[in-house]
Amino acid sequence: VADIKKWFPLKTLPFSEKKYIKAVDGISFTLHENETLGVVGESGCGKSTLGRTIMNLLPPSAGKVVFQGKVIQELSPKELREMRQQLQIIFQDPYASLNPRFTVGEIIGEPLAIQGKLTKKEQVQKVKEIMAKVGLNVNYINRYPHEFSGGQRQRIGIARAIILEPSVIVCDEPVSALDVSIQAQVINLLKDLQAEMGLAYIFISHDLSVVRHVSDRVMVMYLGQVMEMADKEDLYHRTLHPYTKALLSAVPVADRHVKKEKLMLKGDLPSPADPPSGCCFHTRCVFAQELCRTQTPELTEYRKNHFCRCHFADKNEGEYHEDYKN
Ligand code: SF4
Ligand code: MG
Repeated sequence: VADIKKWFPLKTLPFSEKKYIKAVDGISFTLHENETLGVVGESGCGKSTLGRTIMNLLPPSAGKVVFQGKVIQELSPKELREMRQQLQIIFQDPYASLNPRFTVGEIIGEPLAIQGKLTKKEQVQKVKEIMAKVGLNVNYINRYPHEFSGGQRQRIGIARAIILEPSVIVCDEPVSALDVSIQAQVINLLKDLQAEMGLAYIFISHDLSVVRHVSDRVMVMYLGQVMEMADKEDLYHRTLHPYTKALLSAVPVADRHVKKEKLMLKGDLPSPADPPSGCCFHTRCVFAQELCRTQTPELTEYRKNHFCRCHFADKNEGEYHEDYKN
């Protein structure tokens, strides 16, 4: 993914300066085979738009996505259809994305039907195989989505996403609508499928504990930009960015004997139509200095594979831990 941007134009008066919501504003990364990249941030930070732009469901305003050696934005409609088999998406609310008038068998088998390579009988056989693989009772193949629980509906969404044997799946808050007990089951299913099928995931979530559980690498987004990106252990244990630290300190700890470092976020997320000057996080950063208001920090690699966008990142590790304790 190379410097991808998704800007939505805002309605403005004629002859006045054009304004945009910069939902995704210059994001680059490489996703490796069989890897899970977690994408975290508050709602409204552009995570879902990033997922849809990568898939070209929303064409980017600038930048490009290179997938298996080809630039997605340069593909013909036919090539794009073929590429889509390799690149699938799972949504937060499986119910909204499942057509209520279709049976589960029809929903899961639809990508096969569109592809049109198998006979009707072979399609049914394949659907049954996939249903068993994701833990759905194959006897329910002729039932309708409303007859299933939330967790089962997400299994239907997953079955549909894997039936064409893709290599990448964008998972957009796939467990956020589910009860905590069901979340673990769905996450374990995703992990098992990844090991078995060699899948790579882009796992979007606002929940840092879920992302920690599934990811190899984590990207932290704020106002359409990457604030920090690192291997999981580095991101959680050698955190560099004040925003990441604030998000981490907001995660509840199960063990009440563990004394939690607290760093609260001031105020609300600013509008992406009118982002703050300099470092876009300065209005909420407890460490902001004059420089932060005027100069935009670059995303910089401070350690191997550990990127951070902060003027004081090299001082952050360690030093700021003292501040937490107050
Ligand atoms: Fe905070 Fe300044 Fe770093 Fe931005 S650049 S995160 S405002 S310390
Ligand atoms: Mg979202």
